[in-house]
Amino acid sequence: MAILIRNLFIFFLFTVLLGGAYGLWKLENTLRTVTYSEFRHCLANHELESTTFTGNKVIATHKAGDSYETTVPNPEKLISELQDRNIQIIFKKDRSEQLFQATALIYIILLLLTVIISLSKKKRLEEEESKFASDKLILPDSGHKLVTFDDVAGIPEALEELQEIVNFLKNPDQFSKIGAVSPKGILLQGPPGTGKTLLARAIAGEAKVPFYSFSGSDFVEMFVGVGASRVRDIFKEAKTNSPCIIFIDEIDAVGGSRAGGATASGQDERSQTLNALLVEMDGFSTSDTIVVLAATNRPDILDPALRRPGRFDRQVTILPPDLKGRKKILQVHGAKVALQPGLGMDKIAHMVPGFTGAELANLVNEAALMAARRGKDRVDYLDFEHARDRILMGVERKGMIISEKDRNILAFHEAGHAIVAKTLPEADPIHKITIIPRGRALGQTQQLSVTDRTSYSYEYLKSRITILMGGRAAEEIAFQQRTTGAQGDIVQATEIATNMICKWGMSDVIGPQAMVIDDSGFLGGAAHRLEMSDRTSDSVDKEIKNLLELCNNEALTILKEQFYLLKQLASILLEVETLDDEEFEIIMACHFTDKIEAGIQETHQCRDCPAAESCIHSKLKK
Ligand code: ADP
Ligand code: ZN
Repeated sequence: MAILIRNLFIFFLFTVLLGGAYGLWKLENTLRTVTYSEFRHCLANHELESTTFTGNKVIATHKAGDSYETTVPNPEKLISELQDRNIQIIFKKDRSEQLFQATALIYIILLLLTVIISLSKKKRLEEEESKFASDKLILPDSGHKLVTFDDVAGIPEALEELQEIVNFLKNPDQFSKIGAVSPKGILLQGPPGTGKTLLARAIAGEAKVPFYSFSGSDFVEMFVGVGASRVRDIFKEAKTNSPCIIFIDEIDAVGGSRAGGATASGQDERSQTLNALLVEMDGFSTSDTIVVLAATNRPDILDPALRRPGRFDRQVTILPPDLKGRKKILQVHGAKVALQPGLGMDKIAHMVPGFTGAELANLVNEAALMAARRGKDRVDYLDFEHARDRILMGVERKGMIISEKDRNILAFHEAGHAIVAKTLPEADPIHKITIIPRGRALGQTQQLSVTDRTSYSYEYLKSRITILMGGRAAEEIAFQQRTTGAQGDIVQATEIATNMICKWGMSDVIGPQAMVIDDSGFLGGAAHRLEMSDRTSDSVDKEIKNLLELCNNEALTILKEQFYLLKQLASILLEVETLDDEEFEIIMACHFTDKIEAGIQETHQCRDCPAAESCIHSKLKK
């Protein structure tokens, strides 16, 4: 009904405006009106040229050109008089009545149209709402196969922490008997793909209770008020089926701080939903054996009201697994595919530092696909390696054509990274060097950390920057030119240097003072400089610049000293395109001879050298 009234209102407003506009137009365009006696006066003075009759209205035009209008009492008499005086007479039909009728007709049609459109729109909305109502059926999640703690690997601390919840759901009486109150809400926080959903499901599976799963974003897309009433319905349903678990994924969509840039109505909907959730959580008593689990990867933006006692007062943080955890997760997912016997997950876990559970699951799947594509019936190490490269770097762009000159530059660039990395004692070992374009990168030099590092030393970070500078330095030494190929390196190097000085207090000039603020959740990323005086800001800039230059110079020095080796490695890369860690080590051992004169022993490694053709030893032997 409201829509109808609104539309009618708009319609009338429109009419009034149109009428007003017409009136104004008319005012502008109407002729001057004079009295009949004035008209007679002009007639008597022979001033008139012609007359136009419309009913008993006459428009008289002067010989001088201007016109006016007047009303005549007796048109017939006037006409014969005008004829006598030889003044032109024109007759026009009176249209005003017709015009009025036409306008009225159009007006009525428009009015009817407005009413019809409003009513049909209302009906459509009602239909949509009722569709939602039928959606409202709240059922526990049963589409998934039962998940237990056995399916969750690599995060033992979280499992331990949540075992208590399982016990509570299984045996609520045992808890209430001694007056212990189990937590009502648990917040699972951690980066995407770390297994938060899996964990929540596993709790339900272990305790064998119904699992009601929702996503925070579901609530926000609804009409105002529907989100809140849905929350109430969910809790009502859960209470009749307790013990049970309610899981809300992406709780930040409803419980995010109100500063987010949502629209006013979206904001309103969110806070209504959030309030409903808080009221429900405060409301259920200890006799309702319901545990609410919520997951988020943005705990930093959550409304603090969510964490008050009696709500999500327990938080479990889940981070990407360490080496041991990765191995365990790989074993869980590896059990689902046909692995080559004896394939150790240890080695595979080593090559994917930082991978989350979801990424590891994806890795196993990609490796299996790779094996299938090659017609193998077992997944082997090589498949895993290819799968990892595909995930990390994108698909090999074999068809991409690079000019010989660019390939040459690329080879020197990658060789530069590798040699600097090999030379610096603090650096991670080289894992792979390639000049085959993949994804967005042209070439790539990968290093692998031996252990999972959780803290980084000044020396290590400095060598990271120096290695990044190595690519550009090599180009500069070999070709005396700079290319755009170093863009990514420079961005990364600047990021590390900025963090060292502004975040980790590694500059003596600045001291242990935070200069930037992170507002990007778990993954670092964009940081904003805190407010500071111009002078401080200047010295921060200077420190960053100094550090970057220091590293760049070091890279230049290393590569100038080992220019011979750089040339060798670059030419080998042009030949074979990709080198793995073993091959790289052999080449280093074999060609690390710029200071050694002829007569050195050929080592057994030289025979395995992938670049035996261009090997210095084979040349020496000739
Ligand atoms: P999140 O909810 O944290 O984004 P999910 O629980 O949806 O992550 O994880 C996605 C998938 O990744 C899971 O279905 C599972 O196959 C795999 N996975 C993630 N973490 C683990 C883990 N710790 N152990 C085994 N598999 C995992
Ligand atoms: Zn580079």
